[in-house]
Amino acid sequence: MPILTIKNCLDPVLRKKSQLIENIDDELVQLSQDMMETTLEARGAGLAANQVGLPYSLFVVDLGLEKGTHELVTLVNPVITAMEGEEIAEEGCLSIPEVYAQVKRAKQIEIKGIDLDGNEVRYEAEGYLARAFQHEMDHLEGSLFWDNLGKIKRDLLKRKFKKKLKEKEE
Ligand SMILES: [Zn+2]
Repeated sequence: MPILTIKNCLDPVLRKKSQLIENIDDELVQLSQDMMETTLEARGAGLAANQVGLPYSLFVVDLGLEKGTHELVTLVNPVITAMEGEEIAEEGCLSIPEVYAQVKRAKQIEIKGIDLDGNEVRYEAEGYLARAFQHEMDHLEGSLFWDNLGKIKRDLLKRKFKKKLKEKEE
């Protein structure tokens, strides 16, 4: 199965709000499998469909994050149904490689969605996994983690990203 190309934050698809998925067909199942492989290969915590160029309401996330294992699941049309507490911790993004920042997130969340069999699923998460869910939800809204920061900090990170991109191209 192919490893997909991850779009970086300069691609306009990252700014698109995702469309709800009406049909879970073989193509979508294949996409999700490819996204899981791509996440593992990139050593990511999760990946949203628009990060591989498809603005669908779907992401994969690694439930094994806090256990030091891998357990990737797919959520279709996810919605965060509860949020509690606050926590600031370091966050990065596969679409903004090598750039990290301290981001404030809810400490605990509940999220609902549909799995690839069409069944309703619900997860409760805290800590790093709760962060990963919130990060992927942001992607589905066309947001990036640095949108949660102030402008000065965000501009600084953008410059850092562009500099790293340029270094790679040289
Ligand atoms: Zn991301």
